[in-house]
Amino acid sequence: MIQAIYIHIPFCLKKCFYCDFPSFTYKEEELIEQYVQSLICEINSTKINLEEGATLYFGGGTPSLLSLTQLESIFSALLNNGWSFSEVSLEANPGTVSKDKLRGFKEIGINRLSFGVQSFNNKLLRNIGRIHNREEAIQAILWAQEAGFKNINIDLMNSLPKQSIYDVYEDLLLAIELEPTHVSAYALKIEENTIFYKLAAGDDNFQPNDLIQERMYDLIPRVLENNGFKRYEISNFAKPNYECRHNKVYWHYRNYFAFGLGACSFYGHKRATNTFVLEEYLMLKTNLHNTIREVENITAADYQSEYIFMNLRLVEGLNCITYANKFSEDILVRYAEIIERHLKAGLLFFPEKNILALTERGFKYSNLVFRDFIN
Ligand code: SF4
Repeated sequence: MIQAIYIHIPFCLKKCFYCDFPSFTYKEEELIEQYVQSLICEINSTKINLEEGATLYFGGGTPSLLSLTQLESIFSALLNNGWSFSEVSLEANPGTVSKDKLRGFKEIGINRLSFGVQSFNNKLLRNIGRIHNREEAIQAILWAQEAGFKNINIDLMNSLPKQSIYDVYEDLLLAIELEPTHVSAYALKIEENTIFYKLAAGDDNFQPNDLIQERMYDLIPRVLENNGFKRYEISNFAKPNYECRHNKVYWHYRNYFAFGLGACSFYGHKRATNTFVLEEYLMLKTNLHNTIREVENITAADYQSEYIFMNLRLVEGLNCITYANKFSEDILVRYAEIIERHLKAGLLFFPEKNILALTERGFKYSNLVFRDFIN
């Protein structure tokens, strides 16, 4: 059974300097319309068993660039397949919304907004190439609340060039003041094929040094948890009952289906990735039999490793009984030496019987733990 659907909207007004997501800037509105028509064709021609009350996520790119009519037609195509959704999220760039548009999102049936704020500091926003400023971000969140959205996420970034610990603190305080139900806080990682990759080449001081980055990392849970948020994943914090159900499908390593350019689905022991070539994707409209999806079988070893570290990302940890039922082996026997070592180092612990989880310290050094579980 598929438990979640992801819709990829690959268009942006401008490429942010750190971004390596499959997204690009466009010149003609017509291109977006053609893309939406292809998306609808892909949805109409897909037969999957979707669990009742599954989650739906419009991600990108910048889904908030779509017109209300376009969003509504995608949503109708999904509903016409007989699918129903409990949580419907949309990623919104604060520079692309208006009061009316946000009200329209609500009317269409979107019930969770995720604002890519990244920072409330205008200088930092300019430095990372965002199209919006502090005032627009605040305004967008207030409008969303006025429109009746209760479930709002604010995305924040840390470890940005020229960002101080105090800047991170100020961003957190303002985010809290705006009363979202969810905050995601990610550290900047310089990826290849980004503007930052070129700018950072040979510059050891491009980002704050390791000590400052570590302090930023430590500050985030302290401030958020003192203000009613609970960490439930390495970088995600929520008010009670507002954890992102969609993302938890990924972390629980459950089945999901994705539509759109370069979109990647996961079901059974397979991963199916759509073409990254826009022209090919747009041809779907006229050639429904066109195969745009490349299917890869996940090896048993990879499946097992990924299952372990995806589940360990969550504060709730990995249930050893569920693991035993799934893989017919005892994780504590199979990985005895690795688990023992990380227990001793204070990176793993048993919060309760049969639950293996990362400690606070373990979250910080999670990569060291995860890499040991790679078969
Ligand atoms: S808005 Fe998001 S997807 Fe678009 S360029 Fe910026 S980070 Fe990338």
